[in-house]
Amino acid sequence: MNSILEIVFWGVRGSLPISNADISNYGGSTSCVGVIADNGTHLVFDGGSGIHPLGIKYMKEGFPADLSIFITHAHWDHIQGLPFFAPAFVPGNKIRFFGCNQGTVSFKEVLKHQMENPYFPVKLSSWLADIDIESIGETTIDINDIKIVSTYAEHPGMTLGYRLDYKGKSVVYLPDNEPFSKYDMETVFVERDGNDDLDMETMFLEDQKSKFFSFINNADLLIHDAQYTPEEYGSKAGWGHSNFELAVRVALYGKVKHLVLFHHDASRSDKDIDEIVERSTQIVSQQGGVMKVTAASQSRPSLKLT
Ligand SMILES: [Zn+2]
Repeated sequence: MNSILEIVFWGVRGSLPISNADISNYGGSTSCVGVIADNGTHLVFDGGSGIHPLGIKYMKEGFPADLSIFITHAHWDHIQGLPFFAPAFVPGNKIRFFGCNQGTVSFKEVLKHQMENPYFPVKLSSWLADIDIESIGETTIDINDIKIVSTYAEHPGMTLGYRLDYKGKSVVYLPDNEPFSKYDMETVFVERDGNDDLDMETMFLEDQKSKFFSFINNADLLIHDAQYTPEEYGSKAGWGHSNFELAVRVALYGKVKHLVLFHHDASRSDKDIDEIVERSTQIVSQQGGVMKVTAASQSRPSLKLT
């Protein structure tokens, strides 16, 4: 059966690209996820080092009619592949970028800065493709009948997450996110009826819950930050990344069908990630859920929503 949406993981790692023999399954490139819809539309989420091989594929096999690239934020691991994205240098290729400003610095300036001396010798003005760079915040965008909604994530600086809905299928991409970081995890998952008799802090939590869970609600696929283990998390809480237990718990609460653990820590081997998937699956059973959990992998076949 043909897929309505096909999802390809070109880069799955957080923080920095790595390469060694122990990561041949999951891969070592930084964040980049491609989505191809059955109407021929190509979307890309983030431009980490994983966008480099995607660019090579496009150069060999042909560039789509147009390409939209959604950037979550400007930390290196999400934009460092862009100066090496060969199709951007080819006249005639049509590329639209979407991303958020960083304070008073526009999204376009943010992309320009990493391609300036002394950081890089080739300027953004060398991109000869037909490039459009659009600053967005929380909004809804329609691209060839694919609805894309953006929301701010909990991560240092301004960071977006994206939800895509098309023909009844949905994919949520939150690669860098530490939801409800100011609250004890067990407090978050308490069901409360109405806002009567709640203190201000709990009312604020309920507002945050309502916004976050409606964003991920019933997603067929949630690609979510799971950089840390619960054991590591103690010293890293507040850094803007989730541990896998938090990712599993929010996904279950949001009635997600398939959670894809993402933004693997640079120290993690294939074996470590396999263990994280196993432990995550155990949490799902302990919570009485049926959600599927896998970890994003650059070497496994693409995911297909049919
Ligand atoms: Zn990151």
